[in-house]
Amino acid sequence: MSTYADFHQRSLTDRDGFWGEQAQLVDWKVPPQQICDYSNPPFAKWFVGGITNLCHNAVDRHLATRPDQAALIFVSTETNQEIVYSFRELHAEVQRMAAVLKDLGVQKGDRVLIYMPMIPEAAFAMLACTRIGAIHSVVFGGFASGSLASRIEDAEPKVVVSADAGSRGGKPVPYKPLLDEALRLSKYKPEAVLLVDRGMAAMDLVAGRDHLWGALREKNLNTVVECEWVDATHPSYTLYTSGTTGKPKGVQRDTGGYCVALAASMKHIYAGNAGETYFSTSDIGWVVGHSYIIYGPLIAGMATIMYEGLPTRPDGGIWWSLVEKYKVTVMFSAPTAVRVLKKQDPALLTKYDLSSLRALFLAGEPLDEPTAQWISTGLGKPIIDNYWQTETGWPILSLCNGVEKAVSKFGSPGKAVYGYDVKLLDDQTGEELKGANQKGVVAVEGPLPPGCMQTVWRDDERFVNTYWKSVPGRLVYSTFDWGIRDADGYYFILGRTDDVINVAGHRLGTREIEESISAHPNIAEVAVVGVADQLKGQVAMAFAVLKNASLITDEASALALEAEVFKLVDRDLGAVARPARVRFVTVLPKTRSGKCLRRAIAAVCEGRDPGDLTTMDDPAALQQIKDLISA
Ligand code: ATP
Ligand code: MG
Repeated sequence: MSTYADFHQRSLTDRDGFWGEQAQLVDWKVPPQQICDYSNPPFAKWFVGGITNLCHNAVDRHLATRPDQAALIFVSTETNQEIVYSFRELHAEVQRMAAVLKDLGVQKGDRVLIYMPMIPEAAFAMLACTRIGAIHSVVFGGFASGSLASRIEDAEPKVVVSADAGSRGGKPVPYKPLLDEALRLSKYKPEAVLLVDRGMAAMDLVAGRDHLWGALREKNLNTVVECEWVDATHPSYTLYTSGTTGKPKGVQRDTGGYCVALAASMKHIYAGNAGETYFSTSDIGWVVGHSYIIYGPLIAGMATIMYEGLPTRPDGGIWWSLVEKYKVTVMFSAPTAVRVLKKQDPALLTKYDLSSLRALFLAGEPLDEPTAQWISTGLGKPIIDNYWQTETGWPILSLCNGVEKAVSKFGSPGKAVYGYDVKLLDDQTGEELKGANQKGVVAVEGPLPPGCMQTVWRDDERFVNTYWKSVPGRLVYSTFDWGIRDADGYYFILGRTDDVINVAGHRLGTREIEESISAHPNIAEVAVVGVADQLKGQVAMAFAVLKNASLITDEASALALEAEVFKLVDRDLGAVARPARVRFVTVLPKTRSGKCLRRAIAAVCEGRDPGDLTTMDDPAALQQIKDLISA
């Protein structure tokens, strides 16, 4: 077996040979004629001439070998349901959904917008779309009308699939009124709306437009809908980025490249095997949900757990109880979820039999060392941080333990993943930083590997200008994240390029300050932002959440804790990096995907309008900061 370094090297120097081999991990109706067409950079066409189908690879392909094995395991602690669908049953449900969508007029290339809670029908709808060559666009169920309307206008779906309600903390959250309002706001009107009635909230149906899944499903119990074989380059879906830094971009993904990239990642990165169970705690509204709740595990012949509910209900042991019950071997979550668990009883981490579990993967935001340490020790399992973006669809940086076992370095998402020619570039000159421990913008030399975005939906120009033109005189993909690489090739992500602040002429990464502060034993999480200052240009402001809020009883105890934090930062980074203030809050403003909205915090601190907050989870979080600032 070759080393990982060789493996990675070959993926770049013998690109076609390497990916041609990976392509054999999936089924093709017609095998690709050309592996990569990069004649029109930065647009890469993967597996040209190949004809395949994503749903076939995720579902039908397994019918011959594992028809009765679990495929989709639905667990809701909101409605106390647990339903296991075998591959055979999943195949039947997907065909029913596909038949209904076709009846509603959906054809190859049409968009279907999916605005749904974490219920099996959402998975059926996604798979039904790719089965018939329709392009799905899943919008996170937590979004309100405004965000939904702008995505409907951009995607122009023929049909919207939704439900009466989601549920959060045991309380129904009606979706239909939000959808109706979004459809009213949107200039574009879809022909039909397909609704799953969970019996949780009353729905006003619009005659001629709204249809109920239950009734239409009954009519199609035995309808056969064959897979529509499509070109490898046919779009499978569009998905909007989280919008942490501004207006969300419609990321467009192909079919063949995505299928191969996921199959390869299941083998080399996640090391999950057919017949085992994969548990990703994400949501289908995010890219992790697309790649590693739905497509990746199913393509690999694994059962996948779809979990509706909180990580803390009925208690903080719920996820680990599922690992025990379903013998989960690979688990995927986010640092934000681990920080939530950090506030719970650590004994819950050892209460269940986790012997099946090989590793916990975390992605989505920086994983600070104390949090990684806490969960790794608590579970006694390897923690693998992996770094990627909605745009890429699968990891850019990770450990590839399926190729060669490597040790995790806490605070690092690992090395460049095969297929990615990752570089660190000087943000001013665009020059490549080849030495160890130099800080630069994380960039990827084209072509991006299979599975990455093809373009911005209907906006090639935005794709080129946004992602490929940030370095003067060079066509290179920018992640807009800072990073360094150590002498062993491990990368460390230092935050987003727009998170850099300038304090009296010193350029500081807010992320580094956060890392230092989060080492304080009583701090659960912290956000640092740059705020305009007359004297220094900018100063850092820190907002911290305590592990135990009762530590602060009065002004004096808050000041004492603040002084401790100052000392920490002085020691780690020097007094220049010391925040102007450290304020204590009970919760930080975040997007629904758990990413901190530093942009909004900074705006509030400067007395500016925080802008579009439709993606924010808890409005009270920003209010706390407003109150502290104005007090
Ligand atoms: P938008 O692009 O609309 O502002 P977003 O960047 O938050 O939104 P995503 O694609 O969901 O949307 O997130 C990708 C970003 O998340 C990365 O660019 C990086 O900043 C951060 N990220 C993801 N995984 C990690 C990780 N393991 N370590 C550090 N940062 C990470
Ligand atoms: Mg981004």
